[in-house]
Order: sequence, then C-alpha cells, then structure tokens
Amino acid sequence: MRELNRLKVPARTIMTPGPVEVDPRVLQAMSSSILGQFDPSFTSLMNETMGLLRQVLQTNNKWAYPVDGTSRAGIEAVLCSIIEEDDKVLIPSFGRFGGLLTEIAERCGAEVHLMHCEWGTVFEPEQVIAELKKIQPKVLAMVHGDTSTGRMQPLKEIGMACRELDILFVVDAVATVAGTEVKTDEWMIDGLITGTQKCLSVPAGMAPLTYNERIEQVLLERKSIEKGLLTQDLAVSSSGRRIRSNYLDLSQLQDYWSPARLNHHTEATTMLYGLYEGLNIILEEGLENRYQRHRLNEQALVSGIEAMGLTLFGDNQFKLPTVTCVQIPDGVDGDSVRKMLLEDFGIEIASSFGPLHGKIWRIGTMGYSCQQRNVLITLEP
Ligand SMILES: *Cc1c(COP(=O)(O)O)cnc(C)c1O
Repeated sequence: MRELNRLKVPARTIMTPGPVEVDPRVLQAMSSSILGQFDPSFTSLMNETMGLLRQVLQTNNKWAYPVDGTSRAGIEAVLCSIIEEDDKVLIPSFGRFGGLLTEIAERCGAEVHLMHCEWGTVFEPEQVIAELKKIQPKVLAMVHGDTSTGRMQPLKEIGMACRELDILFVVDAVATVAGTEVKTDEWMIDGLITGTQKCLSVPAGMAPLTYNERIEQVLLERKSIEKGLLTQDLAVSSSGRRIRSNYLDLSQLQDYWSPARLNHHTEATTMLYGLYEGLNIILEEGLENRYQRHRLNEQALVSGIEAMGLTLFGDNQFKLPTVTCVQIPDGVDGDSVRKMLLEDFGIEIASSFGPLHGKIWRIGTMGYSCQQRNVLITLEP
C-alpha cells in the first residue's frame, strides 16, 4: 500500500529580503472559501482593495491594483505596456534589480541607455538629471531600494525633473513599500510597482502597482491602434506599437479592474483575500508606526552585528532600512554559516548576487518578520 504523504513544513524564522513571514490573519483569510471572479462579493472586495492600495502607495491615482505573478510580473507589465520598439529608456542601475529593469526593457525592444555606479552606493540626483537632459528618453526606470546591495536611491528631485522634461518615471519599489516612506504622488512617480512577499507581508504571487493618467494615455493610444490593426492583415499587426504581451497588457487588465469587468484572465481570488487582509493590517498599524517599527528593529540588528565585531557593507548614508548587508569576514565560508543557521536554528538569512556573492550576507527586516523577537533570535547563535 502507498504510504500517506502529508505536507511537512518546518518552523522557520525568515530574515531574508523576501519571502518573509506572514501574519496568521493573512493565512487565515487565504483559507476562506473560493469566490468566482465576477461574484459581486468578490468585485466589491476588488474595489475595496484598490482603495486600500491607494492609501498604502500614497496616491490619488485612479489605477491601483495587483497583477497576478510575483513582483517582476508587475515590472514587466508596466514596462511592456508603455515601451514601444526603439523607445529610449534610461536606467541608472545600482544593483541587480537595475539589471532586471534593463533586461525587461531590452526585451521590449527599447533602446536602453544604462548608467552604472559602484555597488554599495547610489546616484547623485544631479547626475541622473544631467543624463535625462542629454538622452531625452521616453522613460526613466529606476529601483528605489535595491535588495542586492541594500541601498536606497533618493527619488524626489529626479521625479520633479522627469515631470518638467515630460519623461515617464517608473519605479521598482518592491523592497520599500510598507517598510519605509514611499510617496508616489509627492515624488511625481508615474508608474510604481511593488510585491506582496516583502514588507507587505503577504505570500508571493501578486504585484500591486499604480499608474497615473500620463501612463494611461500611452495605454489608450496603443489600444486604439490595436483595434485598428485587428481589421487589417496580420503583417500590420506585428507593428512595433502593439503591446506585445497579452497576460501583462495593462490596457486589458484595467478593463477588468474597472466597472466594465471585461474578462481577461481568471483572477487569483484567494491571493486577493491575502492582499486585502495584509493591507488592512498595514493601515491598522498606521504607515508612520510601521516605518518606525522597521527603523527600530533595523537599528537593533545593526547594533548587535557591530557589537559582534562585524562590519556593514556599503555607503551608510544610503542604507536601505529593510535590508542589512554584512561583510563576511576573511576566511569564513558564508554559505556554511547560512546552512548552520538554517539547519541548527531554523533561521534563514540570504547571500547575494554576482560580484557580491560570498562577500556579504543580507538580513531582511521586513513586514511581519520585522519584530524584536526575530532580531534577538538572529543575533543569538
Ligand atoms: C525581490 C525584488 C524583485 C523581484 O521580486 P519577485 O517577487 O521575485 O519577482 C524586484 N525588485 C526588487 C528591488 C526586489 O527586492
């Protein structure tokens, strides 16, 4: 007879930059009964979630909704919906996720102009603004907090410059929303993407995003071309202006999130329960209190690490408050320390990518994982 296999999930303290632990309330919400995607009980939940998202993303934009898929699905949705063949896109990259923006923009057929800075630092806003004036791109795409290097780029001045120069400003705020201040409207961000499994503290699987009427205008223009194309022969439909993705076409997705409720994909209704509950928890705590809690636990973690005689990586002035990067001392095998933490203590911390792999550990203080107890447990062994 076949043995009965049952799911076995060990207890963990997750101190990585995602996925992070989730409030039991979120897990409970996700075990609620299934609703159909056009059930009025579900569509009213969609509308409420849009309202909650506007508050968390600090925006009055009409459009604020999640795309199904992890954070990069949201990034790809925004970029592929606005970038047309040969459009100029400027990407100042200060870590691995600037590289992700670059790869996606290139796949959309953009003429990408890259700016680099040393990993562990960020850009002077004036540097970026000078390049904006020189290149005059259609889009500036930038990461707010890059978890690979643990740095955070100041965005306000860059946002103002983009608006003045009529450039679309797209920001990956996956690692920062709900963990530290992100002001979509005040910083004049046209399109902003986040993810569920970081400071929102909801399982991976959705990418909440928001965009304003400047981006919507591009979507509607491309959609009207699309409609014209459908009546012509197929050769014309390969025109560079058509949005290439079906799944991630924001002009179609917004029709499902609008009162028209036009059918697109089958919504991940259970994920939306989780997001809804997660957003409510954030607003019950209050954004300011939440940022304060993230700062406090980060400072406790940093003090503990320094007390051990370890050194932090990177320019401290631009440290990302939700990720702490620690230099691995000479002669220490970083991966075996991580293995020991996981196997002996059930604690997970992260390594890093590319040039930083084997050089630093990365410890997240995000969302529900960001609590005093977890910080103490992580410093203990
Ligand atoms: C984690 C992360 C992503 C990618 O998220 P996925 O959910 O794995 O797709 C993108 N950008 C930043 C800054 C991140 O930290």
